[in-house]
Amino acid sequence: MGETILVLDAGTTSTRAILFDAKGRMLGNAQRELAQHYPRPGWVEHDAAEIWTKTLACMREVAGPSAENIAAIGITNQRETVVAWDRRKGDPLARAIVWQDRRTADYCARLKEQGQEANVQRRTGLLLDPYFSGTKMRWMLEHDDAVGPAARDGSLAFGTIESWLVFKLSGGAHVSDASNASRTLLLPLDGEGFDDGLCSLFDIPRAALPVVIDTHGELAETSSEWFGRRVPICGLVGDQQSATIGQGCLSPGETKGTYGTGAFVLTNKGETIPQSDHRLLGTVLHQRGGKRVYALEGSAFVAGSLIQYLRDQLGLIGSAAETEDLARSIEDSGEVVIVPALAGLGAPHWRPEARGVISGLSFASGRAQIARAALEAMAHQTADLASAFAKDGAPWTMLRIDGGMSANEWMAQDLADMLDLPVERPDFIETTALGAAICAAVGADMYSDLEAAALAMRGGAREFLPRMERAVREARLARYAKALGAA
Ligand code: ADP
Repeated sequence: MGETILVLDAGTTSTRAILFDAKGRMLGNAQRELAQHYPRPGWVEHDAAEIWTKTLACMREVAGPSAENIAAIGITNQRETVVAWDRRKGDPLARAIVWQDRRTADYCARLKEQGQEANVQRRTGLLLDPYFSGTKMRWMLEHDDAVGPAARDGSLAFGTIESWLVFKLSGGAHVSDASNASRTLLLPLDGEGFDDGLCSLFDIPRAALPVVIDTHGELAETSSEWFGRRVPICGLVGDQQSATIGQGCLSPGETKGTYGTGAFVLTNKGETIPQSDHRLLGTVLHQRGGKRVYALEGSAFVAGSLIQYLRDQLGLIGSAAETEDLARSIEDSGEVVIVPALAGLGAPHWRPEARGVISGLSFASGRAQIARAALEAMAHQTADLASAFAKDGAPWTMLRIDGGMSANEWMAQDLADMLDLPVERPDFIETTALGAAICAAVGADMYSDLEAAALAMRGGAREFLPRMERAVREARLARYAKALGAA
């Protein structure tokens, strides 16, 4: 048996392959950008064939001649994105509809008007929002020229990205892991598989859906075509759940926040099914032998993309990293507050119609004040989430951060200050890939459980401790709350 773990990380803007050893050290890494298709405002599509061929190319580049050493494959992926393919030919039938796509907003609004949301939320932990997969499947069935007929003749296969990749790697297995399946609106949090009642609510044919399986274990096998032998696939996990595992948040209450394009916060809820009264999401964190551990999740749609906006649209900064020096160059933001609702507001507000606000401008407000206010907005949004989590009975005791923005140490300190909690940033920042490696290592029996694997495979971390006076914190939160009212 080999001793390395090959992780495929099929993200939104790029796909990657990363090779790990059993201690969690990265041995190799290959990456390809993915084309983003925006056929209309609010629509976002991917070419699933491109995702497969580029993932395969990365996999070949990284595995190279040492493919015989691979003990197991782990896959992590952008969640909610839907692929429709022909199960006989193995080809996509349409462009994949990406998680960011808003085209089903009207359909969601209609279902809400019919009073369906409370039931859907109680059963699936999710809300009626275009973000989730089920409404995207419905759209394809209704509007795509190839998908509807394929459903009628029995050749249609639906799946999220990990499901599509396993189908291609294995040469025909049609499965989806519980962490990805829990983002579809079709899986009850307490149900083993997709639910007939939920499928009929969204009018999705059961026959087109994959079988729901564990996140780690002997899940599938590659065909011998790719490595000259069959390689077990032992980990399948959605990207945010994977980062939670990669951050070692394996006990109830432990929390991570990923600050990339958006910000995604998950708190481990153990075996208790999360029920939110504050518009947070309940989701499956991981599953083995049918036994689930859950998480409570809150996402802000705009995080690093606000910094990109300052750079690319406003031309206020030359690089994202420059915001750190700008923020340090002044004592405070001079009462400038930014509400980053450029794509509406996510949890806990869920106001798709909200728009961004810059308030408190004076003649003294220059680029430093605006850059600082943009970074401060991350802590403000996170503080909003923290209070929703606390009200839902999941208070945080510390926050483990990752994602591209966590490179900004001013922001990390500001998070600690505004949350009044320790913030920890791991030295090895690729927590999403590491989480899938941890799942695959346990699934391949290299470790007895996720805790043992995380202990062996995770490295050190840097801690940021709170040191802000309460009055300063409260004044900032009050200013943010006021600005939020105008968004
Ligand atoms: P994703 O995985 O969502 O594509 P990443 O985790 O790679 O995103 O993070 C990239 C985002 O982080 C970009 O939006 C960028 O603006 C932001 N970013 C990167 N470095 C910094 C920094 N030093 N300070 C502030 N923002 C940063």
